Amino acid sequence: MFLSRILKNANNQITQKYNALSHKGIDLVKEKNKTAEVIAHSDGIVTAIHTGMGNVRGATGNASYGNYVKLKHDNGMYTLYAHLATVNVKKGDKIKRGDVLGQMGQSGNAYGIHLHFEVRNASDNRINPTPYLDSDLPNLKEKVDVIYQTYDSKKEKWLPNVSNDTDYAGNFDHPISGLYINLTNGSIKYRVHEMNNKWLPIVTDRDNYAGNLGKSIDGIQMMSDEYKIVYRVHLMKLGWLPWVEKFNDSNDGYAGVYGHEIDAVQIKVM
Ligand SMILES: [Zn+2]
Repeated sequence: MFLSRILKNANNQITQKYNALSHKGIDLVKEKNKTAEVIAHSDGIVTAIHTGMGNVRGATGNASYGNYVKLKHDNGMYTLYAHLATVNVKKGDKIKRGDVLGQMGQSGNAYGIHLHFEVRNASDNRINPTPYLDSDLPNLKEKVDVIYQTYDSKKEKWLPNVSNDTDYAGNFDHPISGLYINLTNGSIKYRVHEMNNKWLPIVTDRDNYAGNLGKSIDGIQMMSDEYKIVYRVHLMKLGWLPWVEKFNDSNDGYAGVYGHEIDAVQIKVM
């Protein structure tokens, strides 16, 4: 038995199914002796709320929802939670899956306490929410952040972590000889080419780094079939090379020019 993704500590008790013509959502009631808290289906941002509504039988349009919360999720789809008694969030709030949005109620056009739940596609059209009552929305990827750092051969130390899109790891005119990459929710494979020598072993675990400290690097390669990785390297005295885009696990393609020391790296993961 799976607990509902939209009711805290309760199972789905469907009282009215989705109907593409007459009821473009699903109605759920709470189980006896369970809480009436309504929770977020998935991570997202609050794009609309309505509060202060009482029970108005026969209300139409937006008013029929009563007090509601609408979330936009990372894949562009929306979920909507209607007829709430109370609303715990405000527009613009960032929400995590399972966060309490409010209490189940009967505001708006409702005959009895229940939750009216909708799923909307990226065009804001209501679709059948049934498949998603207990599972992920399609193509919903958790946001992944990359954290990386390089070893500065001139200073003989690891430089601070870099974790944003615009910064880079390295000091111009200081060759790097080590590279460490870590993804917050996911994995990446990578390796470096030791200057005028050979590709070093592929690094797959987050307790390791690529490189022989003290020996310059003239090539960097990254692999992932889970995430799109965009990266580039800065060649000492020469400047940035074009971005390399990578979205597979093969070891083709790399950033660098053999015989030219790399002094900085920039990585983005999408
Ligand atoms: Zn309904």
